[in-house]
Amino acid sequence: MLEAKCPECGRKAQVDDDMENVKCPQCGFTAKYDDYIEIMKGKAVMMSDDFQNSWDKNPF
Ligand SMILES: [Zn+2]
Repeated sequence: MLEAKCPECGRKAQVDDDMENVKCPQCGFTAKYDDYIEIMKGKAVMMSDDFQNSWDKNPF
């Protein structure tokens, strides 16, 4: 069983052995693996935006 980071709660989610589905036992999040990748891509973009914003506001 592969592990993945849950996009909902940030804890450990589990990837099916066939890489079809991602399930998080902590919060109940489930998604197709392809959808999960898209979600995480979106999160990465948002996180870098947040980082950029806080950097602009508080450079130190
Ligand atoms: Zn979760």
